[in-house]
Formats: sequence, C-alpha cells, structure tokens
Amino acid sequence: MLQMFMPLGTLGIIYRMLKYTLADMDLVLKLLQREEEIQDAPDARPLQVTRGRVEFEHVGFAYNEDRPILKDITFSIEPGRKVAVVGPSGAGKSTLARLLFRFYDVSSGRIVIDDQDIRQVTQQSLRAAIGIVPQDTVLFNESIFYNIQYARPDASREEVEQAARHAHIHDFIVNLPQGYDTIVGERGLKLSGGEKQRVAIARVILKNPVILVFDEATSSLDSQSEQAILAALREVAEQHTTLVVAHRLSTIVDADEILVMEAGQILERGTHATLLARDGLYSHMWALQQKEQHELLQSGPPPRDV
Ligand code: ATP
Repeated sequence: MLQMFMPLGTLGIIYRMLKYTLADMDLVLKLLQREEEIQDAPDARPLQVTRGRVEFEHVGFAYNEDRPILKDITFSIEPGRKVAVVGPSGAGKSTLARLLFRFYDVSSGRIVIDDQDIRQVTQQSLRAAIGIVPQDTVLFNESIFYNIQYARPDASREEVEQAARHAHIHDFIVNLPQGYDTIVGERGLKLSGGEKQRVAIARVILKNPVILVFDEATSSLDSQSEQAILAALREVAEQHTTLVVAHRLSTIVDADEILVMEAGQILERGTHATLLARDGLYSHMWALQQKEQHELLQSGPPPRDV
C-alpha cells in the first residue's frame, strides 16, 4: 500500500508520482482523498516521543457506518516489545495498523502513544515516529539506491549500504548488473515480493522510527527469502516497539504477546506457548500451518516468489 509511506510527505510523493504513468494517478487521487478525510486538530502539537509505548483503548472502527470492523480492541505494546496480530483473512488485522498510522480515525475509544491521543498530535510528527513495512512495497522507477535512500534523503551512501546489510538485501544488490545503480520498479528490474519487502525493511532501518509496523505479505515466499526477512525483522524489532500483522505463525513465535483476532474482536491472547496450551483457534491455526508446511516440504521446493 503506497498510502503507508505518507510520513515522508504526501506532496513529495505526489510530485514524484506525477513523473510516472497514468496508472499511478489512481494512487495520487487516493492520497489526496485521504488528506481531506484526516485533518490535524486546530491545536495539534508535535508528538513527544519519550519511550514509544503504544496503547489501543477500547477501539471500535467501521469503514462504513453500517458495518463495524473492529469492536472493543484493547492492548498495549511496551517500549521495545513486540506484539503480533494473527487471525483469519478479513479479521481486521491490517486495519489496526492503518488506525495506528491515522489513515482513519477510530469510531470509539482511543489510540495513545506515550500518553498522547494520536488525534491530538500533528500527522507529520505521528508518521515520523512510525515506520511501516507494508504488504506490497511500491518501488519507484529509479535506482535501488534511490529507492532505499528515499526514506531519509540526506543519508550517505555508507548509511544506505549499512541499512541494506541489516535488511539482508545488500549481497543481492551488489550482485545485480549495476549494483546499487540498477533501475528497479515497473519499468526496471522487477524484484520478487520478498526482495521488495527487504527493500522496505532497509528503508525503515534508515528512517529509524521509534515504532515499527510490519504487515507481513500474504503471498508465499520461498524459504530463503522468508528466512532473510525473518532475520532482518528480528534485528530491527529488537530496538523498536513493534506491531506485526502476521499470516505465517512461524514468523511470530517469539512475540511478547500474540493477539488472535476473529471478526474484529480479540478472541485469545498470550504467548505462543500459552496459546498452544489453550487448544483454541490459535492452536488449530498452528496445527494447520504445520501440516501445510510438512506437505509442502514433501512436494518439493516452492516456486520463487513474485
Ligand atoms: P488479510 O489477512 O486478508 O490481510 P485482515 O485481517 O488484515 O485481512 P483487514 O484488511 O483489516 O483484514 O480488513 C478487515 C475488513 O475490513 C474486511 O472485511 C475488509 O473487507 C474491510 N475493509 C478493508 N479495507 C476497507 C476499505 N477501505 N473500505 C471498506 N472496507 C474495508
């Protein structure tokens, strides 16, 4: 979702996108529309990030009034901790991430960062404090260097390469025909889903926000790509308050708390071990994924992710 990258300045993005194809206009229009929906409060102040504590307090939300999506969601993420959200498709997992970024306002309850309601702070400061690795990373038709540096345009070449190393994408890049100068994106070299997510992780590392949101891709990745992403995520999550929207439970067994959502509500919560012991939805999902993985291993290597 390109919308996830608004922290860097909607106008800047729109300017760059105008240089590209008409197909991008759809995204530009969506960005403009979103700008109109969410406005800074007249007395909005910059978010003062002290520790990076995130709280959802009795949050309710509906995209359309007649269809509630989230109901009474309460949880907190302590500074430097990792909370994972899992559950069936459509449960409302990504919606949580969108609300934290204030793409929409909650219908009831509130979202608080370091004791400040996010509706009372400027959107610019809020989005500067949060880094998002979205499901689908949009790459510009520019060099891969540009695509990473874009997260912090004043970053040096050394800093960009260091971020790429931590994101486990550096070795891949230096083996490309033109290394960091290789043009990627729709009209350049097409990267796989896993490679694009690692570019997004490199961006986040460069931006170094206090809060990290990782929206795991639904598409299956080859196991090498998945392992690289996992290693990169682990590294970056250690220093951040992290919210992970996960589809593969193997990604989040080490989370401090796992929220199991169904139909917009938290059905179960706990660590991997406590949830397995409960024999509820989580343990059934786990058993199913283990079985699928076993079958996959027996049927040979999966195709390279795209
Ligand atoms: P998945 O695992 O498939 O990514 P999810 O749990 O992340 O699913 P959400 O993307 O949060 O689910 O969506 C929750 C519900 O909200 C779904 O029923 C979806 O159809 C609906 N929804 C999502 N985005 C919008 C939107 N922009 N307008 C209206 N309804 C939406």
